[in-house]
Amino acid sequence: MTAGRLPTGAPAQEGPTALLERVRGLIRDVPDFPTPGVVFKDIAPLLGDGEAFAGLIGLLADRYRGRVDVVAGIEARGFVLGAPLAVALGVGFVPVRKAGKLPGETVAASYDLEYGTASIEVQPDAFHRASRVALVDDVLATGGTAAAAAGLVARAGGEVVELAVLMELTFLGGRSRLGDLPVHVVLGD
Ligand code: AMP
Repeated sequence: MTAGRLPTGAPAQEGPTALLERVRGLIRDVPDFPTPGVVFKDIAPLLGDGEAFAGLIGLLADRYRGRVDVVAGIEARGFVLGAPLAVALGVGFVPVRKAGKLPGETVAASYDLEYGTASIEVQPDAFHRASRVALVDDVLATGGTAAAAAGLVARAGGEVVELAVLMELTFLGGRSRLGDLPVHVVLGD
């Protein structure tokens, strides 16, 4: 460890506003990835900064402490954000996985992509009856993934208290696909 630095994983010692600006500065725009015309929001620099990452998880934990019984994360970056949040809250974690990855019986939902369709799945016994769920992902874009995931949670017996995303690409209008589902955008305006 470098002298004078907090150990990796220690929360950042700054207030929420400064922390959010730091988090924002650690998200890299990658033009034309994975396809031409898409600006990919790369959270790898954020994940690589232990203090900022831990600070972000701390902010989310403050928001959901006592309000949820379980965290559900959407594959794959929703796992990276959702699992440490669950640990911080002392609750369980449910992975919402891409089709074909979960063993045994599953509940599935399909949604439209720009070209073609995609499917996601959860295990039918993933949620205890009426468990309160924080649903987590990194980016809300067209909203198809989040809408399908929220529908799956409901079909598996959970109640989504709120969808939490790091960023929202508002120009894509994803919220219109989410009905009255509450949405928390960490790096909102
Ligand atoms: P959508 O279903 O269009 O809302 O897309 C959301 C999902 O795709 C999330 O799981 C994101 O991780 C991913 N995604 C969509 N657009 C981007 C983007 N510009 N940068 C990074 N991830 C994205």
